Amino acid sequence: MGRRYERLRQAARSQRVSSREEDAAQPQESRAVSAFAQLSDIPALDRLLQVPAIQAEIQAHGHAYTVAALRRHLDGLRARIRTGDASPDLLDEAHIGAQVQREIARATQPRLRAVYNLTGTVLHTNLGRALLPDAAVAGVVRALTAPANLEFDLASGGRGDRDDLVEELLRELTGAEAATVVNNNAAAVLLMLNALANRREVVVSRGELVEIGGAFRIPDIMGRAGARLKEVGTTNRTHPADYETAIGPRTAMLMKVHCSNYAITGFTRSVPVAEVARLAHAHGLPATVDLGSGTLVDLTQWGLPREETVRETLAVGADLVTFSGDKLLGGPQAGLIVGRADLIRRIKKNPLKRALRVGKLTLAALEPVLALYRAPEHLAERLTTLRLFTRPAAQMQAQAQRLQSTLQAWVGHDYTVHVTAMFSQIGSGALPVDQLPSAGLTVRWSGAGRAGRHLGRLEARLRELPRPVIGRIADDALWLDLRCLEEVDTDAFARQLEAAP
Ligand SMILES: *Cc1c(COP(=O)(O)O)cnc(C)c1O
Repeated sequence: MGRRYERLRQAARSQRVSSREEDAAQPQESRAVSAFAQLSDIPALDRLLQVPAIQAEIQAHGHAYTVAALRRHLDGLRARIRTGDASPDLLDEAHIGAQVQREIARATQPRLRAVYNLTGTVLHTNLGRALLPDAAVAGVVRALTAPANLEFDLASGGRGDRDDLVEELLRELTGAEAATVVNNNAAAVLLMLNALANRREVVVSRGELVEIGGAFRIPDIMGRAGARLKEVGTTNRTHPADYETAIGPRTAMLMKVHCSNYAITGFTRSVPVAEVARLAHAHGLPATVDLGSGTLVDLTQWGLPREETVRETLAVGADLVTFSGDKLLGGPQAGLIVGRADLIRRIKKNPLKRALRVGKLTLAALEPVLALYRAPEHLAERLTTLRLFTRPAAQMQAQAQRLQSTLQAWVGHDYTVHVTAMFSQIGSGALPVDQLPSAGLTVRWSGAGRAGRHLGRLEARLRELPRPVIGRIADDALWLDLRCLEEVDTDAFARQLEAAP
């Protein structure tokens, strides 16, 4: 570069040139020397296509896509040259190659990405709920890469039913006569109501007309299913007599809904499943229960809060129970309906069943997860979600101590990082008032100015990491709960911080 260029560089430095964010990799002085880049200096497309970086992109993403990206980049360069905003080194062939490579990498990175869930909510709906165990991953890989007997009966050589793949396991684990599987629990409730209560009434306690996150409202689903909601009782108290008097000639069923994401405390009364079932049966009606999370085992054996199991709910008289596959169960997204064989038969005959059915990937993941429940004594080590729920706080505490200095170095001196005891939540509406003792790191702003803005900026920086880190802000601190950062991932987590600016 000539002497004039050097002079301009110095002038630029003394003027504190503002650099735009996307140009962070560019020399700051690019604006000041803009006069030197000419439109005619832009290398010819043919030449650029021979640059090794561009050749590599053509190999990876194809000729048309790469050429389009290259043209876009050159259009940008032309615009900058016209506004006097481009230095000659921007026109260097290797530089253009590297830039286009970076732009393609950004544009083609998968939209669905792995993140670190440090929110403290284990079953986080927005972060994909349950993490699946290796057995499920192996099942999915098999089903993806080889033909499978999805609807093919290997014994007879005739057509099979995809529900058969998991029905026996579900019967074994819940004591139900029959079972069927659909896309999620919302679909299970919709299908059950449409199959059994279309144009008829469903009696539900006012205290159970819940809204589950993501616009699942029992009254709305009821309407879409064609069923008429018959509300009984009050928000906080419902008595057996309320159900009794609501039963009429148009009643199709009595239904109970798990108050997944909230708790009514104080002066309350709800009618237990056993009693609702007794009332229903006295009138020749089925009693159904939307359990929401629906666990297959008694969680208290691992020191977790008590939650009625699917088996217990059926045992006290429920005729049908619906629950999710990816909440406490720890499997893939799915909706399971278990219970009386005659009712399940009617449900399976409903055309909505075909519309709401699960794909082979779901069944390939669900079967091995259910199979893990045959050996409850190994469940806490084999079922990923249960392993996360049962991690002792001391483990996260030790992890937090190991990571403290790394995080402190990454956040910089205007923030302070502390090892902090905290509480995780199970999440996804399961057991909303119960919390699990945990530990992690909290980051507080110790510089000048209001903490909120700086914490927000820090949170955004964490989201920009190659594998984004998701925490939460509360009480003037950023909280990073380490429960969902398993031991095997700890080093990778630290290395990412050490490598990132
Ligand atoms: C979560 C939940 C649902 C919805 O289940 P999805 O599997 O998310 O569709 C329905 N009812 C209750 C009570 C729930 O807790």
